Parts: sequence; C-alpha cells; structure tokens
Amino acid sequence: MMRCRCIFLIIFVFHVTLLVGNNATKQSSDIPRLLIISLDGFRHDYLNEHELPTINRFRNEGVHATHGMRPTFTTLTFPNHISIATGMYQEEHGIVHISFFDRLLNKTIGMDSRDEGQWSDPKVEPLWITATKQKVKSAVLFWTACHNEFYGIRPLIYSWSYSDNIPFREKIDNAISYFRELPIRLVMVYHSEPDKQGHVYGPNSPEVRDTLFRLDSDIEYLLTKVKSDLNDDLNIIIVSDHGMANVTKVIRPFFEKYLNPASVETSVLTGGLFNVMPRSGLTEQVRTNLSKIPNVTVYKRDEMPERFHYSKPASRLGELTALPDIEGHILSEATTNESDPYKGNHGWDNTVPSMQAIFMARGPSFNKNVQIRSLNNVDIYHIACHILKINPNPHATAGSLVNLTSLFPPKETVSTTTTSESSSLTTEIFFE
Ligand SMILES: [Zn+2]
Repeated sequence: MMRCRCIFLIIFVFHVTLLVGNNATKQSSDIPRLLIISLDGFRHDYLNEHELPTINRFRNEGVHATHGMRPTFTTLTFPNHISIATGMYQEEHGIVHISFFDRLLNKTIGMDSRDEGQWSDPKVEPLWITATKQKVKSAVLFWTACHNEFYGIRPLIYSWSYSDNIPFREKIDNAISYFRELPIRLVMVYHSEPDKQGHVYGPNSPEVRDTLFRLDSDIEYLLTKVKSDLNDDLNIIIVSDHGMANVTKVIRPFFEKYLNPASVETSVLTGGLFNVMPRSGLTEQVRTNLSKIPNVTVYKRDEMPERFHYSKPASRLGELTALPDIEGHILSEATTNESDPYKGNHGWDNTVPSMQAIFMARGPSFNKNVQIRSLNNVDIYHIACHILKINPNPHATAGSLVNLTSLFPPKETVSTTTTSESSSLTTEIFFE
C-alpha cells in the first residue's frame, strides 16, 4: 500500500506540472513561501532533555520560544491543530475534542470526518482557506480537517485522511516538489510522531528518545533539500500541538460507582477532563456525585475558568466538566476495570510545563538568533498571514503579532498587503 501511494503521488505531481505548465512561476524571496510542519506531541521539554543537533541548530539560527508554545485547552490533537490553523480558541472554532457529538446536527464529528457540517460557524477559517481566497495556492497534507470544504473552497492540494503511516521524509519530498514544481506558496504538513511513541511508552522512554533523533535526522534531510532544491529560499515553521506526560492514575467515575451512566447522555468527553451532559433535571445530582471524586474539581458551564475558553458551543459540550487537580490523573468513561493502554497522555491544563508545545522558525522572512519566552498557538495563524502577505480573518482575534515583532527583521513591518497569483486550479490527492 505504501509503495502504491508513493507512485501515485509522483504521477500526480507530474500531472499537475503539466496542467499548470508555464504558470509554475519561478519563486524568489519577494514572493515569500512558507512551510509549516507540525510534529504531534513534541513536548517542549524534550528540547532540554535531549541534545538534538539539527533541531538545536535550526532554532538557534532562527527564532524560537525558550519556554515553548501554549496550546489551547483542552490539550488534544484535533482541537489544537484547528486552533493553530484558524487562530481561534476551541469555544470559537467548535472543535472541542478528538471526537464529539453535536446535539444540533445529531452526529459525531471526528478527525477523519468527511463532513462539512462541523464548520457550523462561518467565522471559522483555516489558514489554507484564507490563503486560497486571496489567490495564494497551498498544499495541506494530513493536517486535521484539510479535506473539509469551506463554502466551496479547498486548497490546491490536500489529503483525504488525517491518520497516516507515510514516512516523514516522503512528506518532505512532496512538500519540496510542490514548491519546486508548482506556484504554491504555503505547504502545511502534519506528522504523527513523537506522539505515538509518547503514548505507548511514555515521554521519558528510550523509544521517544530514538524517535526524536530520527526526526532530527529527517529535519537535516529537509534542510539539505531546501538548500539544494530551493536555494534556501523558504520560510519554515516547526511547531507541535501539545506536550506529553506520564499517566499516574486512571479514574473511572462509572465503574467506581460515583456516577450512574443512565444519569447522563451517552456522549462523554474524557481524558484530562470529564465533560458530561446530565439528563433533564439531574444536573445538581450529577454535580454532587462527581464532586465526591477525590482530587477533582467540578465546574458548571458558566463557572469554567475564563482562561480555558472552553464553555461553548452548547451543542457540543455538556453542562458539567470535571477536571483532575493532579496532572497525570485521567478520567475514563470505562464501566469495567479495564486497564488504560497508554503510559503517556495529554489533555491537561494548557498552562502546565509538560503540556507546552514547540515553536521554532527560520527563513528569509524571519529574524536570526532571536529568542522569545513563549507565545500562544493561536498566534501562528497571524505569523503565517504576515509571512504570506495576506489579510487575516477579521474574526481570528484570539492571537496577534503584538508581542511578536522581534520575530521579524527590522525592515519587515506588520503588513496586510494582499498579493495575487494566477488560476484557481483545484486538484485532489486521495490517500486511502
Ligand atoms: Zn497531538
């Protein structure tokens, strides 16, 4: 299957090259190009714990956040990739978990949903849609929801599926070929490591260490390709979506008889939180029962701390949210004493050090040798719009460039200039 996909993609690139023909314009730094890479679950602390030669060089040569990048709450993959892509909090873009039930739409929405209904709010606009609307062509590979149509608009190239087993270097090869062969100015690539190893073996495991060094080698491969194929004329942002911590306890409110499953609706959000919708008239009873769990704090929707930005949409979140007071404790909806399969997990408070993500960037549009303390992942959308010289979505107000001007060379001012390119060719890649 893997080999088939490779061949198909190569054929595809050749085919599109023929289609665009002379429109495959020669790029230069006055037409900035941007590659955004997300390495799932790359905890910020990994950079302190492991001496990764290429990644260290990358961040020291460009710009980086010494204390990492703050995810949005809840610190899960699907919601945070959408926050990075849209510059919005989870209560704004409506992606509140890796899988959730919408009571208005009467359907479950997850990372692989090929459904357009999840974007019920027209204010939501991922970066690739902002770019496409302003004639900046983009390719988005394996980024959650990149296959969803937004009011008739899709990026030039996108993949159908979020989950993948395609080697990172193959994705790098594809990204470089898009920049080299096509008039594409934005490529976004998702990769599922080191998250997978972190879950299975825990964040301090040899398996995570080995994966980090493999990724470091892959980044070296990327930088070599950028130099040889693109004359080093490419802006690169490397981020992650959240961190990773050891699971120290699994709390099972149903199995441990704190809560009767019949007292709540079946759609329960679990992990670093336990969000339930009580049956009609049972809210206070369910709240009382959940509050009996040791080391857990229960909030009604309107009591959720404002800093979480996690009280809407009402059709997707239940009325009550229980949060573990101790990092490492997870809440499960299990009704049996089944063991939890993961040694490592995420989803906890987005301010704790173990949940912080990475941010580093370099390229002709970025400053050199500049450190900032931290930033919010909702700022990435604005950084990208600035680099690409496109107007950000006016509804994306959670992040900004206000505290980030040091990322850019003095000659670079915060611009909202719109550029244009030819043809609105849209083509699909199918990864099955
Ligand atoms: Zn993730």
